[in-house]
Amino acid sequence: MVIVVGSGAGGATVAKELAARGLTVILIEKGPVVEERDAFKHYANVDAEVHIMRTICLGGTTVVSAGNGVRCLDAELRAVGIDLSEEFEETEKELGVGVLPDSLFGDGTRKIMEAATDLGLEVQKMPKFIDPAKCKADGRCSFGCPEAAKWSALNFVKQAKRLGATILTNMPVDEVIVKSGEVAGVRCGDRIFTDDTVVLSAGALETPRLLERAGLPTSASSLFVDTFTTIGGVLEGIGFNKEVTMNALIRFDDFILSPHFSRRLVESMEQRGIAASPEDMLGIMVKIKDDEVGVINEQVEKGVTNRDAVLLSEGAAVAGSILEEAGVDPATFVATPLRGAHPGGTAKIGVAVDTRLETGVSGLYVMDASVLPAAPGAPPLLTIVALAKYGSKLIG
Ligand SMILES: Cc1cc2nc3c(=O)[nH]c(=O)nc-3n(C[C@H](O)[C@H](O)[C@H](O)COP(=O)(O)OP(=O)(O)OC[C@H]3O[C@@H](n4cnc5c(N)ncnc54)[C@H](O)[C@@H]3O)c2cc1C
Repeated sequence: MVIVVGSGAGGATVAKELAARGLTVILIEKGPVVEERDAFKHYANVDAEVHIMRTICLGGTTVVSAGNGVRCLDAELRAVGIDLSEEFEETEKELGVGVLPDSLFGDGTRKIMEAATDLGLEVQKMPKFIDPAKCKADGRCSFGCPEAAKWSALNFVKQAKRLGATILTNMPVDEVIVKSGEVAGVRCGDRIFTDDTVVLSAGALETPRLLERAGLPTSASSLFVDTFTTIGGVLEGIGFNKEVTMNALIRFDDFILSPHFSRRLVESMEQRGIAASPEDMLGIMVKIKDDEVGVINEQVEKGVTNRDAVLLSEGAAVAGSILEEAGVDPATFVATPLRGAHPGGTAKIGVAVDTRLETGVSGLYVMDASVLPAAPGAPPLLTIVALAKYGSKLIG
C-alpha cells in the first residue's frame, strides 16, 4: 500500500501511475472536491513581498494553470543523473500537448507576435495541453476552465479512482510518522494512516514543513517562484481579455515573455487615474528565473534581489518596446504587482532527497515542485509530471 499526500501535478500522477500498476493507493488531499469552472474560489495565495499563487483543492494548482506545456530543467536534471526523455514523451502524449490552431489565436496575441517578429525577436507558439475542439477562447484558463478543455490533475485523480485508489479530501496531513528510521504512516488530526511507503506531494510551500516536522533536512531557504509582472497599456477595442492566455512564447536566457491579460492591469490603471476597461488592455508577462533566496518557516518570505530587479527591468523594457510596436500608447503603460506562480526548490534533489526521490527515511519520498533543482523561469508542470512518473517507477 502507498499513501500519497496532495493531489496536484506530482501527487495525482503518482496515484494514477501506482494504481495502474495494481498497488493499493490512498490519496490524501487537504482541500475540497472542486468543479473545474469554480477553481478560482480555491486560490490560497501567500502574501510575501512577492505574492505567491497556488490553489488548495483536489487537483492542486493545476486547476488554474494556463495550459502551458513546456519541457524545462531537462539539462539540470540530467546533470544530477536523472534522464526524463522517456517520461517527457509519455507526458506530452497523455496530456495532448501541441500548439493550438490559428482560429484560437486572437487579435491581441497576433499583434504581439507580429510586433515582436518585426523587432527581430524569435517568437514561438506556446505548446498547450488544451483540447482545441473544446476550447472557447474565453480567457478563463486561470479561473478554471468552464469547458474542461484544459488538462488538469483532476483527470489523473479520476483515473486513479477508476483504477481502485481511495481519494480522501478535506483531510490535511499534519505529520509524517517515522519509526526507527523508516516511515510508518501519516497523521491527519486524530486519524492515523499506517503504511511503509509515503509520497509527499503537498507542493513546495507545504512539503518542506512536513519534512521539518519529521526532523528531516530541507532546502526551504532556497525557495524560488519564477517572479513575474505583467506590463500593459491601452489598445482600444482589442478584446485581448477574452483570448487564450499566454498563447505565445519569447525566450531569453533568464526570462521569458508571453502575451498575458491580468485584471490587475485595470486596477493599476485606475490607480493612475486612467479610465480603461478590460476589453481595451494589451499586456505581456515578464517571468524571470529568480534567485533562490526565499524562506519558509511559520511565514513565507520571498523578496527581490538586485539581480531579480535587473532581469525584471530588462524584460519590462523589451515588453514595452513590443507593446509600443503593436500600437499601445506608452503613456498608458502600467505594471502589475510582483507575483510568483511556480514555487519550488524547497526539498531539492541532493539535499532533501536522493536521485530516487527518496528522503533519508526509508520509504518516504517527495514528488512535487519541491525537488526541482533550479528556478525554471518557464512553465514547470510538464517536468513535475514527468518526474513523478519517473519516481513512481522506483516504488514497489
Ligand atoms: C495561475 C497559475 C497558472 C499556472 N499555469 C501553469 C502553466 O500553464 N503551465 C505550467 O507548467 N505551470 C503552471 N502553473 C504552475 C503549476 O500549476 C505548478 O507548478 C504545479 O501545479 C505544482 O505542482 P505540485 O504538485 O508541486 O503542487 P500542487 O499542484 O499545488 O499540488 C499540491 C497539492 O497538495 C495539497 N496539500 C497541501 N498541503 C497538504 C497537506 N498538508 N495535506 C494534504 N494535502 C496537502 C494541495 O491542496 C494541492 O492539492 C501555474 C500556476 C498558477 C498559480
